Amino acid sequence: MQATNVIVAIIAAHLLCFGVLAFLMGSRLPQVHGTKDLGYCNVLLSASFVMQLLGHRPDWSVMGVANHTMSVLAPVLLYTGLRRFLGEPAPGWPVLWTGVAGYTAAQVILHPLAGPEARYVLLAACAVVVFSTLAVTMWRAGSRHAADRLKVPLRVLAATCAGVGLLHALKAGHIIRDGITALDPARWYQLVFYGYVSVMAVVLAPLITWMVFIRLTRELEAAVVHDPLTGVLNRRGMTRRLSEHLAGRSSRGAVLLLLDLDHFKAINDTHGHRAGDDALCGVADALRAHVRAGDLVARTGGEEFVVGCLDADADEAASLAERLRAVVEAVEIVRGDAATGVGHIVCTVSVGVSRSFLCMEGFDSAFQDADAAMYAAKQAGRNRVTTAESLAA
Ligand code: GH3
Ligand code: MG
Ligand code: MG
Repeated sequence: MQATNVIVAIIAAHLLCFGVLAFLMGSRLPQVHGTKDLGYCNVLLSASFVMQLLGHRPDWSVMGVANHTMSVLAPVLLYTGLRRFLGEPAPGWPVLWTGVAGYTAAQVILHPLAGPEARYVLLAACAVVVFSTLAVTMWRAGSRHAADRLKVPLRVLAATCAGVGLLHALKAGHIIRDGITALDPARWYQLVFYGYVSVMAVVLAPLITWMVFIRLTRELEAAVVHDPLTGVLNRRGMTRRLSEHLAGRSSRGAVLLLLDLDHFKAINDTHGHRAGDDALCGVADALRAHVRAGDLVARTGGEEFVVGCLDADADEAASLAERLRAVVEAVEIVRGDAATGVGHIVCTVSVGVSRSFLCMEGFDSAFQDADAAMYAAKQAGRNRVTTAESLAA
């Protein structure tokens, strides 16, 4: 067996293994989209390498036609898989099957009319289009997903695809100039082409695994700092964001608003726990929609929320607290109840406002201030705002 054949066999095995891994990712990690398409792409590429090993000739054969169709379909699947992975729209299987049928028919029509070289030029031209589209799309996606830390792998992917596109263009030029003899595997550009494609096949697996790893890490990081029920920050997320803000040079401090829903146990008892959950979500959405840009909203206990007012003085924070109290009172949670028909749940909230603090060392004391003020608001009859300053006076 020739050394090149051994290398091709190893690459085919490698692609197959990564294809299986991508399928496993697709079935075990449903939150990571597109990996099944990447699995198909790798399996097709692997099969294409095996066909090279079996020695498909440039003359007319079913295996040759299938190989060309697979060679175009594989990068198309790479494109659809990556688009789905990035949460962007991608053509579905009906479109892909139509493309497969169309490409196969084009080969069947072209070969008797224009000879085998036409079929190879068609393959190279389609590959140029698909790989250029991949390169441009992934390069642009790199800018859009910079905050997701996907920029570097997407840019590497784009550059690699641009290289394959260029090599296909080079190959097409040689076939047009020299005819079918241009496909002689000993030609320098054929060696460069297969060398490059082999390296790409090897690079693709760790690159995509790296992207999946980044996506899962981001999800974990987000889960650690958010409340799963309402989607607002949790206590850890609130303290982390606050400390980031207070450490900034332009920070003018923060004020905490502690909001505790009134008689929430009664809401649960009357309407059920699920309705209580809906009410918590409705209140969280309303708070998120009505705080000032940049302010932080967190759920820090069962029916207790904290709003971190950044760069606000105590007066600004007190007027925001009053606005939020009115907003919560206006929230209507629609309940469809089989026994009583459609009804509304109305919540009220008691709010405690802390004093302004400039660094995280002041956080605990500000929280206690806000808690004491909130407790005073409860004592005074609920559905009202009390400030720590007014308690001290
Ligand atoms: P107060 O006005 O004094 O704050 O009265 P309250 O009933 O709101 O306070 P209490 O501490 O007696 O009850 C809090 C209730 O919040 C009891 C608990 O079942 C409910 N609760 C806590 N977490 C959740 C949750 O995640 N979902 C739902 N539906 N209810 C929750
Ligand atoms: Mg409470
Ligand atoms: Mg309460």
